[in-house]
Amino acid sequence: MELAVQRFESGQGARVYRMPLELFPGFWGFAYLVISDGFRALIDCGSGLDSSNSALESGLSTVCSAYGEDGGWRRLTHVLITHGHIDHHGGLRYVRSQTDAPVGVHELDRRVLTRYEERVRLITHRLRGFLVEAGVEPEKQAAIIDLYLVNKQLFSSVPVDLTYEAEGMRVGPLTMTHVPGHCPGQVVMQLDDILLVGDQVLSEISPHQSPESLSDNTGLGHYLESLERIRPLSTRVRWTLGGHQEPIRNLGARLDAIESLHRERLQAVLDLLTVPRTIAEISARLFPEVHGYNVLLALEETGAHVEYLAQRGQIGLESQEAIDDVCPVPLRYVRADGATPC
Ligand SMILES: [Zn+2]
Ligand SMILES: [Zn+2]
Repeated sequence: MELAVQRFESGQGARVYRMPLELFPGFWGFAYLVISDGFRALIDCGSGLDSSNSALESGLSTVCSAYGEDGGWRRLTHVLITHGHIDHHGGLRYVRSQTDAPVGVHELDRRVLTRYEERVRLITHRLRGFLVEAGVEPEKQAAIIDLYLVNKQLFSSVPVDLTYEAEGMRVGPLTMTHVPGHCPGQVVMQLDDILLVGDQVLSEISPHQSPESLSDNTGLGHYLESLERIRPLSTRVRWTLGGHQEPIRNLGARLDAIESLHRERLQAVLDLLTVPRTIAEISARLFPEVHGYNVLLALEETGAHVEYLAQRGQIGLESQEAIDDVCPVPLRYVRADGATPC
């Protein structure tokens, strides 16, 4: 797959350059350069792998050579992160070696950048408990944890210079909206009629969900609320640009499609829970064909849907006696009497 730098122009003449990056082998995404008068912000910065860093370099030089912009590292005024996932912030160490431009992130993802090692340890600990409660076979748990940790050493903590709420959710010409769910500090950034959405909305797949028990302010409930929070923008924006996949022309229709997918998935979980099942058993039925890292993603996605239904009393534990006072144990869920269709 070879993608070119793409240029978008807002109704008021600001330019947004979409720079393709191979984030991990075979996994692509984008960083963006936003230029409006004296404001020049790099939005996200790739994974930090050499291939990602060098694609960022070539993207920036294409913006200068092919589009005549003065967009080199020295002219950058800001580096702004849409959310604290490594495919979006992992390049920060490299970026910091090239520019002194202040780095910004939302308050709720600040600790991912500034206390990275502590976060990885804490989430790994919680993930171990989650896999046990999800009923994953003991011999598979360690392999899943290894996959979770595989690219985590690419990054180490970096300082952050500004946080979005402290700036009044406005940085230069960008207006931010906080949309927790996919990630605690996920934001979308509006520039006239262009909306930069990170991983909040993607054109072809529904953004990944994981249970809030692993990290506060993730979870399907927050995510669905956040979809509604950006719906009013759908009549005002012409281009919606995500961290992966193609630009979205009809944001409202895409929000509808993602919401329906989750409602259908919630219903599928409810239908499966006419008999007691663990999260691993539900996941194997919802996502029968997954392998490798996708097994973890499927378990988290299923866990987020099970958690959403359990939080609302639509499902419950088969037996509360199954809960051990000290250690996590496999838990089976079952549909509650009187559960209503999703
Ligand atoms: Zn993400
Ligand atoms: Zn991403």
